[in-house]
Amino acid sequence: MVESVRIGIVGAGLGGVAAAGLLGRAGYDVTLYEQAPSFSRLGAGIQFGPNVMKIMRRLGLEERIEAVSCHPDFWFSRNGADGAYLSRIPLNAQHDRYGATYVTIHRGDVHEIMLGAVDPAAIRFGKKLVDFEENASGVVLSFEDGTIDTVEMLIGADGLNSRVRETLLGPEDPLFTGWIGHRALIPAARLSGLEVEPCVKWWSSDRHMMAYFLDRNRDEFYFVTGEPAADWPRGVAWQPSTRAALHESFKGYCDTVQAYIEAAESVTKWPLFTRDPLPLWHKGRVVLLGDACHPMKPHMAQGAAMAIEDAAVLVRCITELGVGDMAATFETYRRHRVERASRVQQVSNANTWLRADEDPYWVYGHDVYAIDLNA
Ligand code: FAD
Repeated sequence: MVESVRIGIVGAGLGGVAAAGLLGRAGYDVTLYEQAPSFSRLGAGIQFGPNVMKIMRRLGLEERIEAVSCHPDFWFSRNGADGAYLSRIPLNAQHDRYGATYVTIHRGDVHEIMLGAVDPAAIRFGKKLVDFEENASGVVLSFEDGTIDTVEMLIGADGLNSRVRETLLGPEDPLFTGWIGHRALIPAARLSGLEVEPCVKWWSSDRHMMAYFLDRNRDEFYFVTGEPAADWPRGVAWQPSTRAALHESFKGYCDTVQAYIEAAESVTKWPLFTRDPLPLWHKGRVVLLGDACHPMKPHMAQGAAMAIEDAAVLVRCITELGVGDMAATFETYRRHRVERASRVQQVSNANTWLRADEDPYWVYGHDVYAIDLNA
């Protein structure tokens, strides 16, 4: 029988939603608090490797996500200037070896599908956590709208600028990496006559462009770049940008890349942040996951994946080890996550992933449900 414990999750990003869905399916009393009044379909794509899709299987969402997403057979890395191939990495070409599908999808679509795995009555929108205080029996949460709520366990899934992390560890700005990413959608109709591969990364020594389809019908193409930038204004989440700025930045790249830029709809630019490894992931009744504890540059397309893997391992620890000794349960979770999340963070920040031929099995073949929690 499931232990009676009231669990609060702050942040309904991909990590928080995964945790809420898995806890709900396991029969726990869970409430998800999100500061946004609602979610809109922002123009961005996301890649979910087979390591994530195995968790989507447990959420009962694997088939729904597969039905609307693109399933590239390969990840190609190509030289930006002349298009020469640097690597050809099997994705769905080795589907059975990895144990699930590799999908590329619109971020808004997959977020909506994942929200569908959470009981609507458990989601509270417009709840911005401003403070919390732990006492002997629980954690008292204070929200910006003046309301309070009490839970017995608090999961901080509130992203890069986590208020939960800040309350545990004190204020500290995330580190600007000196990199930004441009993002743009391209309606496929604008690509006619152009060479289009479903999942390709164009590289040069100090920048890149990652491009892929967002849907099964290949109606929407998308690119996200990584480029050096001297600075970024504090507190600004993103800025509008232009095709001209991209042409300038990718001067010297081949005609195909220039054509993608020309075909782009509205272009935005985003700062890329990281943090040094945190000295703790949990304290008392409070535990962190995802970008709240290990943000990274997105160059492995595994940031959300690590948040979702965190959620799955944390929920396994809660369900299999119980909550009687929360410190021990949380420490088992941290112990089984810290090495993998740190390794991914390191490779991602170095931006070397799949540039040359390598076997990505340690990432895509990973199955959080095969971990021996007692090891
Ligand atoms: P978030 O997604 O940041 O969610 C945090 C949530 O908490 C938000 O909804 C926020 O509104 C809410 N919140 C914050 N503060 C409060 C508060 N005080 N009270 C209540 N709610 C609060 N990852 C991949 O796996 N694949 C990719 O292809 C990929 N591409 C990327 C491209 C770019 C350009 C960038 C910048 C990132 C990319 N990532 C990718 C990384 C990924 O976006 C993040 O790692 C992931 O979103 C982290 O999930 P999260 O749930 O931890 O945090």
